Amino acid sequence: MDHQQEPVDKQPELLVIYVCGDCGQENILKSGDVFQCRECGFRILYKKRILDKKGDRIGCVKY
Ligand SMILES: [Zn+2]
Repeated sequence: MDHQQEPVDKQPELLVIYVCGDCGQENILKSGDVFQCRECGFRILYKKRILDKKGDRIGCVKY
């Protein structure tokens, strides 16, 4: 099942979904959270959902 876009107003704007650069796990982080994958501990995460869609493509790892 294709799964590219989600409704924008599903979550408050404070939360951003990050996709792990290593295992692809989605991490929902708030400001102040540790910037690290909860699944594997990898520290490079890509933003999946941001306010503007321009720079968002890199986060689409999951299909
Ligand atoms: Zn990971």
